[in-house]
Amino acid sequence: MVNTTTTTSTTEPATVALSPCEHDANISYCDNPPSCEYDVIIIGAGVAGAALAYAFGTDSRKVLLVERDLSEPDRIVGELMQPGGIQALQKLGLEDCIENIEGITTRGYVVCQKGSIVNLKYPVNPATGKPFVGKSFHHGRFVSNLRKACDNVKGVTIVQGSVNTLIEVPLLDRVVGITYTPTDATTTSTAFAPITVVADGGASKFRKSYLDKEPVGRSQFYGFIIKDCPLIAPNNGHVILSKIAPVLMYQIDPNETRVLVDVPNDARQNFPGDIKSYIREQVLPDIPESLQAKFSESLETERLRSMPNRFLPSSMNTQDGLIYVGDSLNMRHPLTGGGMTVALWDVVHLRNLLSKDTVESFYDTHLVLAQLSSFHWVRKSRASAINILAQALYALFSAEDDPDLKVLRQACFDYFQLGGTCITTPMGLLGGVFTSPLLLMYHFFAVVLYGMLCFLLSSAGPVAFVCNLGRAASVLWMGCKVFLPLLWTELVS
Ligand SMILES: Cc1cc2nc3c(=O)[nH]c(=O)nc-3n(C[C@H](O)[C@H](O)[C@H](O)COP(=O)(O)OP(=O)(O)OC[C@H]3O[C@@H](n4cnc5c(N)ncnc54)[C@H](O)[C@@H]3O)c2cc1C
Repeated sequence: MVNTTTTTSTTEPATVALSPCEHDANISYCDNPPSCEYDVIIIGAGVAGAALAYAFGTDSRKVLLVERDLSEPDRIVGELMQPGGIQALQKLGLEDCIENIEGITTRGYVVCQKGSIVNLKYPVNPATGKPFVGKSFHHGRFVSNLRKACDNVKGVTIVQGSVNTLIEVPLLDRVVGITYTPTDATTTSTAFAPITVVADGGASKFRKSYLDKEPVGRSQFYGFIIKDCPLIAPNNGHVILSKIAPVLMYQIDPNETRVLVDVPNDARQNFPGDIKSYIREQVLPDIPESLQAKFSESLETERLRSMPNRFLPSSMNTQDGLIYVGDSLNMRHPLTGGGMTVALWDVVHLRNLLSKDTVESFYDTHLVLAQLSSFHWVRKSRASAINILAQALYALFSAEDDPDLKVLRQACFDYFQLGGTCITTPMGLLGGVFTSPLLLMYHFFAVVLYGMLCFLLSSAGPVAFVCNLGRAASVLWMGCKVFLPLLWTELVS
C-alpha cells in the first residue's frame, strides 16, 4: 500500500499505533496480507538492493525498490568484480549485467614493491579446467544494468525517491514500512510491507536505529583516472606497495585506468600540504618508473575524489520486519575488492532462504526470523574469509613505521614468489571462490613463519642468530596481533 501524507523527515523510526496490515496486537503475523501492496520494500538500488529486487521479483514477490538517484552512478567504488562475485551473478541469472559495458577481464594481480614484481593468478576452476577470471568496469554501467534487469521484472516497482524513515509499530516491535519523498513530489509518501530491506550502502542512515555496530575507518582512497596507461601487466589488477600504504590500479575500460591511492588518516593529518602534494611527495616516488609520468600528469589534470575505507563486522538480522544487506550490514577495506562479492552472495543466500517454496508468506514472521538466523551462519564462511583477508593484508601493506609489520610485509611478498599454492590458495580466497577462514589462517601463519625463518637466516653468524630469536618471536606476536582479533571478531559477530 502506498499512501501520500506529509510527515517530518528524520532518521529515527516513525511509529504508528498499528500498520494497515495489523489488526490484532496478539497475533504474530498479519491476518490480512492483501492489504499491503508489496511483499518487500527495498531501500537503495545499488549492487545489493537491485540484485535482491531482481531475485525476489523473479520469485513472484511484489517488490518496491526505492532509489534516491536513478541516473547512472558516477563513483570510485565497486569497479573490480572478483570471480566469486561473477559466480554469484551467474547464480542469480544476472551475469549479463557485466557484459557490453566495455569491461576488462582480469586474470589476477601484480604486486609491485621497489622495482620487484610478483604476478598472482587466480586458481583454476575445477569445473571448467580454466583459470577463474574477474572483471573490472565502470561501476555505474554495471549498476544501471542491474536496475534495467529489475525494470524488466513484472513484480518490481522502481521509484526514484529518498527514504526518510522506517515505520515501526512499537506495540509489536516490528518495522512495517517506510516514509519516502519521491523526487518529483513535495509531499512525503508511505509504503507498507511485511519486510523492509535496508540496502542503502556504507553511509547507511538506518543502521543506527537497529544495529549496535558502527563502521570504523583508518584511511581514505583517493581516486583518479589515467587515460591510456601503459600498465605493467594488462588484464591484471596492480597493487603497488608504497612506503606508507598501498596503491591500486586497474583498467576499467579499454582506455581508462582507475587509480586508488590509500591515504591513512594519521599520515594525512601529519602532512602539512594539500592532498595532491601528499601524493606527489609520499606516493609518486614508489610508483614503478614506467607509470610515473602518466600518474603524475593525471594527478594534476584528472578529477580527484575520495571515499572512506571502513570496516564493519556483520550483525545478525533480528529485528522483526527488517533486513540489512550489503554495506549497511558488513564492510571491509576495499584493498581486495571483496565488497560486491560479499553483497551478491548475501543476495544468493537470501533468495534461497526466503524463496516462495520455503517461506510462502513474508507475514510468517517466526519463519522469516528463523531463516534470517540461518542467513547469518550460511554467509559467515565466505564473508569472514574475505573480511579477514582484506583487513589483514591492509595491516601488512600499510606497515609504515612498525619494524615487525615491515618484516611481515616483506615475508608476504616473498611468500608469493614461492609460487604454486602459495599463490593460488590466497588468490582463491581473495577471489571469493575459496571460502574457508581456516585455509586463510593456515596461509597467513605460513607467511609469518616464513618471515621469521628468512629473518633468522639473514643473521650474520651464530651470535646474531641467537640475538635475532627474540626479534623473530616479536614478529610472531605481531602476526597473532594482526590476525587473531580479526578472526575473533568474525567468530563473535
Ligand atoms: C573506495 C572503494 C572502492 C571499492 N572497490 C571495490 C571493488 O573494486 N570491488 C568490490 O567488490 N567492492 C568494492 N568496494 C565495495 C563496494 O563498492 C560495496 O561493497 C558495494 O557497492 C556495496 O553495495 P550496496 O548495495 O550495499 O551499497 P551501494 O552500492 O553504495 O548502494 C546503495 C544505494 O542506496 C541508495 N541510497 C542511499 N540512501 C538512500 C535513501 N535514503 N533512499 C533511497 N536510496 C538510498 C544509494 O543512492 C545507492 O544507490 C569499494 C568500496 C570503496 C569504499
